[in-house]
Amino acid sequence: MKSYRTKPCFCLACGYFVDTASNVTSNRGRPVPNDVSVCLNCGHVLVFNDDLTVRLGGDSDLDTLPRDKREVARASQVFIRQRGPIPKKDPMQ
Ligand SMILES: [Zn+2]
Repeated sequence: MKSYRTKPCFCLACGYFVDTASNVTSNRGRPVPNDVSVCLNCGHVLVFNDDLTVRLGGDSDLDTLPRDKREVARASQVFIRQRGPIPKKDPMQ
């Protein structure tokens, strides 16, 4: 699984800083506009804009995915929500 830098932005659901995306369902490469993602911090559905920032998405966006990819996204949401938010780094460390 490769990770790609994206245009820095924030998850509009939780404020988590987003500047990286990883494709967990294929090796296609960088995200493209309208790709569906899940916030690593809160599990909210995110959709890539034309400039590769993200906007809030929802279940209707997940429904556009093939079944196997939709199941990966939903399993990721369950994992992320059970794990809870990522602790913020202490800038003094
Ligand atoms: Zn979030």
